[in-house]
Amino acid sequence: MHANLLIENATIVTMNPRRDILTNASLAIAGERIADIGSPTAMRERYSNAERIDGQGKVVLPGLVNCHTHLAMSVQKGITMAVPDGLYRVMWPVERSLTPEDCYVGALAGAAEALKGGTTCAVDHYFYMEEVAKATTQLGLRGVLGHTIMSRLGPIVGEQELEEGIDFVRRWKGRHPLVIPWLAPHATDTVKKDWLLKLRQVASDEGVGLHLHVAQSSKERKYVGEQFGMGCVEYLNDIGFLGADVLAAHCIFIDDHEMDLLVESGTHPLYCPMGHALHGRPQRAWELMQRGAKVLIATDCVCSNNVMDLVGELHIAGASQKQLTGDLRAMPALKILEAVTVDAAEAIGMGGKLGSIAPGFLADLVVLDFEGLHTAPNYSLLDNIIYCCTGRDVDTVIVNGQVVVRGGKLTTADEAELVARVEKTGRALMRRALGKEDDLAWLWRSSFGKEL
Ligand SMILES: [Zn+2]
Repeated sequence: MHANLLIENATIVTMNPRRDILTNASLAIAGERIADIGSPTAMRERYSNAERIDGQGKVVLPGLVNCHTHLAMSVQKGITMAVPDGLYRVMWPVERSLTPEDCYVGALAGAAEALKGGTTCAVDHYFYMEEVAKATTQLGLRGVLGHTIMSRLGPIVGEQELEEGIDFVRRWKGRHPLVIPWLAPHATDTVKKDWLLKLRQVASDEGVGLHLHVAQSSKERKYVGEQFGMGCVEYLNDIGFLGADVLAAHCIFIDDHEMDLLVESGTHPLYCPMGHALHGRPQRAWELMQRGAKVLIATDCVCSNNVMDLVGELHIAGASQKQLTGDLRAMPALKILEAVTVDAAEAIGMGGKLGSIAPGFLADLVVLDFEGLHTAPNYSLLDNIIYCCTGRDVDTVIVNGQVVVRGGKLTTADEAELVARVEKTGRALMRRALGKEDDLAWLWRSSFGKEL
């Protein structure tokens, strides 16, 4: 039998239906799929010609799915930190100066950081999505990609964005193994009702999902309340928008009735632990899960997070929800892992193909180095994965059978060159934006205390 790659002697967290954890096991990859799992001796005999990766002292996880981010915003790292209404006062004014090239460079840096932090698939939502797709496919990151559509308030609005959002889906459907095109209306207060209805229809017709922000800010909640006399989730339910193919980022400013609507419709609330903590308003993620909601976990952008490190994000989910609920059984390690593997795969329409380690599944894998002081002694593997590890423990990342990170280093890009490029592009964007927007220049000085 043929295999290209053999990971030998590893601990494998399968996330299969029994949630088996295998020790001293080897895993073979043929082409883009997992071909076989078995004992090291038998596997070495069976696949004697395969390239070998030593898995001794390492833990193999299914590739992690980051369910809400904006990779291209790497050029805006940390700029909304501790700014009230930062979305409106900083992010959008900066984005009025954005070019397609900024998005390409930002997405290269974002995708690179994501891969190094254990993300093998990113659900992305941004302007100039064609540039983002160019970057993610170049680096070998799987993407559920949607072109941002806004009709009001945002930096880039208008009918042409609606058309491009729909065209993007039609252009990319079935075109590239790493791209799953989706529709991405921005939010309940920034996209008019007609467009939301149209996009709901196109999503059903094309068989693609919908990814948007919902009840992210008190401003959004206030606007929807004034316009439609209800909450953001109630409004989406009222117009028939919700469903199991909808990923709804944030869901912070919602009431108990709206929590039930998310559960009943099968809509996936997206919890961004670090971003929510930094902005002082966490989603009631554990309560949502207890009610039966299919909550997923994400980093959001590095503008509000400030890192794209999914492995490192996971312990914040556990810690924040235990603190919020006063219940130390809240958000256990297994539930957190499920949210970024099997549950996420199901939500993006890749159930049975991604999210678990079993023969026939696509070979998206993350290998963690577990030989460090900070993971010893290893009495409780899942707790150690969540609470001891960060992206810096990621040794190897495989996407669609291709090794994209080896020994903690990217194989598909020169990291030093990327650092220089994102610094240069980011600073040039900020200079253009500060030159155009008076308020922004004032905020920049008060936040960072200096000129660029
Ligand atoms: Zn977002």
